[in-house]
Amino acid sequence: MLMKTAREQIVIYGNRMITDGLTVGTAGNISVYDPETGYMAISPSGIPYADTRPEDIVIMDLHGNVVEGDKKPSSEFLLHSAFYLADIGAQAVVHAHSMYCTTLACMGEPLRSTHYAIAEAGIDILPLVPYHTFGTPELAQATAKALKSGGRGVILANHGMCASGASLKNAYGLALTMEWCAQVQWRCMCTGKMNVLSKEEMDVALEHYKTYGQAKSEGSPVSGYNG
Ligand code: 13P
Ligand code: ZN
Repeated sequence: MLMKTAREQIVIYGNRMITDGLTVGTAGNISVYDPETGYMAISPSGIPYADTRPEDIVIMDLHGNVVEGDKKPSSEFLLHSAFYLADIGAQAVVHAHSMYCTTLACMGEPLRSTHYAIAEAGIDILPLVPYHTFGTPELAQATAKALKSGGRGVILANHGMCASGASLKNAYGLALTMEWCAQVQWRCMCTGKMNVLSKEEMDVALEHYKTYGQAKSEGSPVSGYNG
């Protein structure tokens, strides 16, 4: 069985997405990428997380070809591939319809630097990808374009969010941080008063993040407040 550990991790983190309230039903999907083989392991389409077993995870290349697995892969395999093809060091992607990121997504709002913690994404503002139908090449292409800004995550207009990282733990940690920051931003917007940090302030915070926490062994400077 190819990518056994990645398959097991995807099952564990899929269940965490439900228990952490990051998504509901079969919404969202998770993948892990192996740069050595060029294969990604991705959750199957439309199977509840609690029912998903390691053997249901599909192994694919980044061009949509199934390498191993008898289930239909997530409809968003091109969206996940866009992260691995972008030059951002992604080795895992979490896509969720989390409540607050999705609220911003439906307001047509990017995720702003209301709180400095968004620096965990490696950028001061996480872009809003224009709306395209889920599972389409157009959505993947628009996401690839947005990733050129260099951040590790995006908000998908009228849809949800994506977070990536050098490991699944790392990507999942960023997903939780994005959701927390989105809730802070939404609460501020509700009050009509929001002090967004300046680019200069965020540049300083981004520098500080490079040495935040303990020395890292996973290949990424940051493993996340929540990861
Ligand atoms: P899948 O069940 O095909 O992964 O789709 C869920 C989803 O979130 C589509 O955007
Ligand atoms: Zn989705």
